[in-house]
Amino acid sequence: MILGCHLSISGGLEQAVARAEALNINALQIFSHNARSWKMSPLSPDDAKKFLERRQRAHIEYTVIHTIYLINLASPDKKIFSLSVQALKDEIQRAGELHIPHVNTHIGAHMGQGVEKGLERVVEALESVLASPQAKNAPTVKILLENSAGEGTELGASFAELATVLKNVQHPDRLGVCIDTCHAFCAGYDLTTPQGLEKAIEELDRTVGLERVELIHLNDSKFPLGSRRDRHEHIGQGHIGLEGFRLVVNHPALRHKPFILETPKDDEQSDPTNVARVRSLRYDDGARAR
Ligand code: MN
Ligand code: MN
Ligand code: ZN
Repeated sequence: MILGCHLSISGGLEQAVARAEALNINALQIFSHNARSWKMSPLSPDDAKKFLERRQRAHIEYTVIHTIYLINLASPDKKIFSLSVQALKDEIQRAGELHIPHVNTHIGAHMGQGVEKGLERVVEALESVLASPQAKNAPTVKILLENSAGEGTELGASFAELATVLKNVQHPDRLGVCIDTCHAFCAGYDLTTPQGLEKAIEELDRTVGLERVELIHLNDSKFPLGSRRDRHEHIGQGHIGLEGFRLVVNHPALRHKPFILETPKDDEQSDPTNVARVRSLRYDDGARAR
């Protein structure tokens, strides 16, 4: 099973790998810089080298960069839009330098322009990012579009909206999708019953295509089905519950995808507890089980 957590880079990028080692996980998600600031100073070759060496030793099988929360690829505000495009370009460059295959991002919110116009803006943003030197210099890096909970005017709560973006961007080979369980549940996809999950996966396949789902974010939800409120909860302690996660992590369409936890970090035990819970739900994995 490929399972990991979103981990802090405080103390240096390689410290995220050290944290992954301490958790005995084989996957890792990071912010590549301070997530509350647009400012991104260039990566030092020394930091990149330390990260790469440490990751090699730690046997991390999967790494993904999550973009900063300020990004809105649908923004009607010219300034925010261009900062968002620039930030995504810079993240792709970093991913290339760090040999990270994926940059995961929220697509944004239409802020009153309407869904159609908002999705057009997202397509425009992605076209501009993928035509940039940064994207050309990192030809294997893919951008993952994450489904949203549909709070406010957030786009991408339905799989069909993500599919619309995929369909309209020139370089579909450079794009994939990340499905967040909390967001899907809050957007109305009932992952807690076999029938509900089957229906969601069928819709996902029909719209986005299962082969384009590159990553699963495992988060329980503080709020109920269809609430459109994005608040993550510890695995098994929210409205999705242990049985829902048992279905998700064992489903044949999902079980071989990388799973990343973005659950709350109340104390030192939070991550180890959530990791252990997910592992306990997993049916026999053969030799790779840890
Ligand atoms: Mn996210
Ligand atoms: Mn997520
Ligand atoms: Zn969320």
